[in-house]
Amino acid sequence: MLRRAQGPVVVKRRMVLIGVGSLTPDPPDRSAPTCATSEPRASARAEAPAPSRPRIAHGDSAPPAHARSAAGREWLLLDPPSEDVYVRRGLLREKSGTAAAFPNIDLILLSGSVREAGFRPVYVDAQIRRWGWRRLCDELRGRDIAGVVSIVSCDGAERDLRRLRHVKDALGGVPVYVVVPIATVLQRQACGDILANHPHIDGLILNSVEHNLTEILRGDAERLVNVAARRDGRVAVPDVTVRYETGVHLPMPEHAIFRDHRYFFPQSKRNPVTCVQLSFGCPYTCEFCIDNALYRKMRYRDVDSVVEELVEIDRLGFREVYFKDLTFGLNKRIADEFLGKLAERRLNLRWLCTTRIDVATPRLLRYMKRAGCYGIEFGVESGLRHRREANGKPISDEQIKRVFYNCRSLGIETTALVMIGFEDETEEEIRTTMAFVSDLDPDYVAYNVVNALAGTPLAERAKRGGFLLDELNEQRFTSSNIRHRYLTPQRLDELRVEAVRSFYRRPRTVMTRLAKAQGLFELWKLVRLAKAAAWVK
Ligand code: SF4
Repeated sequence: MLRRAQGPVVVKRRMVLIGVGSLTPDPPDRSAPTCATSEPRASARAEAPAPSRPRIAHGDSAPPAHARSAAGREWLLLDPPSEDVYVRRGLLREKSGTAAAFPNIDLILLSGSVREAGFRPVYVDAQIRRWGWRRLCDELRGRDIAGVVSIVSCDGAERDLRRLRHVKDALGGVPVYVVVPIATVLQRQACGDILANHPHIDGLILNSVEHNLTEILRGDAERLVNVAARRDGRVAVPDVTVRYETGVHLPMPEHAIFRDHRYFFPQSKRNPVTCVQLSFGCPYTCEFCIDNALYRKMRYRDVDSVVEELVEIDRLGFREVYFKDLTFGLNKRIADEFLGKLAERRLNLRWLCTTRIDVATPRLLRYMKRAGCYGIEFGVESGLRHRREANGKPISDEQIKRVFYNCRSLGIETTALVMIGFEDETEEEIRTTMAFVSDLDPDYVAYNVVNALAGTPLAERAKRGGFLLDELNEQRFTSSNIRHRYLTPQRLDELRVEAVRSFYRRPRTVMTRLAKAQGLFELWKLVRLAKAAAWVK
């Protein structure tokens, strides 16, 4: 839990300094890149101010080369290669059970900060391009890129961190910053160890919402705000702070660079698609959840700036948006204002979001529909009320059915997010959940296996109870990292596969999906999802 403090809330306590060397040779002059790029906005075209104060990163005394010549230079936002298909959720990346992929919200949010630092953000999703590390480096070699911000996968973070050295080398030793998974952010020592063990990594972004990356990239930062980096040759891991008393002010993200026809959401009806975030955090305390580990209360961006962002996204030709808010519409006043202003703009955009059953009032659903919402994901979690209650969702079967009915009546598609494999769950209970979901008749369902993610109350309880098998599970949500009292791992996996197939192969689902398909794109997408469901393992 976060500790409430005067001013910013401190998630971690003191700056940690670990003695290590640093390396950041000047990047050579190189030819123009061909990555997805964006023209800098007028405010960002000017030369970045030369730093006159002590610098944070790069232990030598001269200003960093990338800061000396920021104007017009490109800064790479990287989704690195991986052998598996990942979905991207905030600070987490998980292996995907479907063929869907969409851009990472952290990179989207950080694209505005990179632009504000005077650089031109460029974006490469090596995964969607099916590039391995060698191909990625070949593509980057010789390009005039001033630095890199990369995400890493949760279960392959160490591998990604190691291989980023090749990217750095290919670009002539430019600075490399990494957005680390939330579980790592919560462990101060782990952050220090990454920088100590990977001298080619120049900094770790601990919070992609509140930070001073812009000043750091410009070379005029006097301190570190939610960025771990090197200071005078030593690793500095600052307190992770969040501010609740002010709104979140973010520079407009550069959505244009994330436009790619290969991106779509599992629920998409049209593409191209992108992601937006209006609020951060969630005040609920679901035992398994790590998504709200940084923000235990809601923080909102300025409503008008998000509406303008959506207008820009619409102008750029995007057709769908996924709101990455953890619980959309929780603050009724802000939801009313936002949805009212969005509806007034009469955009072509359609959008989907995630929220809770007990937040989705009939009034909110009507407002959402009017503002362009076509789909909502709900955390149903289980067909058994006592399981839901034990996991932070004290909602009745009737409540769930009523909300799904209300959505159907309004023409809003529903996705049921379901968990199976609680430590003492029986096969009979899982079958009850499957029957409940079938009765609920959502448009989509995601069956995830319970995992005790590091940093969650569930992981703590699993450790205490002696049923935690592996804190850093390789598979994530398709297999479990806890010991089950009544089920073997193999039986649980069989049940998950059966649950997915039985839902997507039932005649009612097939007929409904085909009847609702709005064009060739959706038919193509359904084929891909059907293949993924058929081969799910
Ligand atoms: S409501 Fe959702 S985001 Fe909030 S704690 Fe529960 S699972 Fe996490």
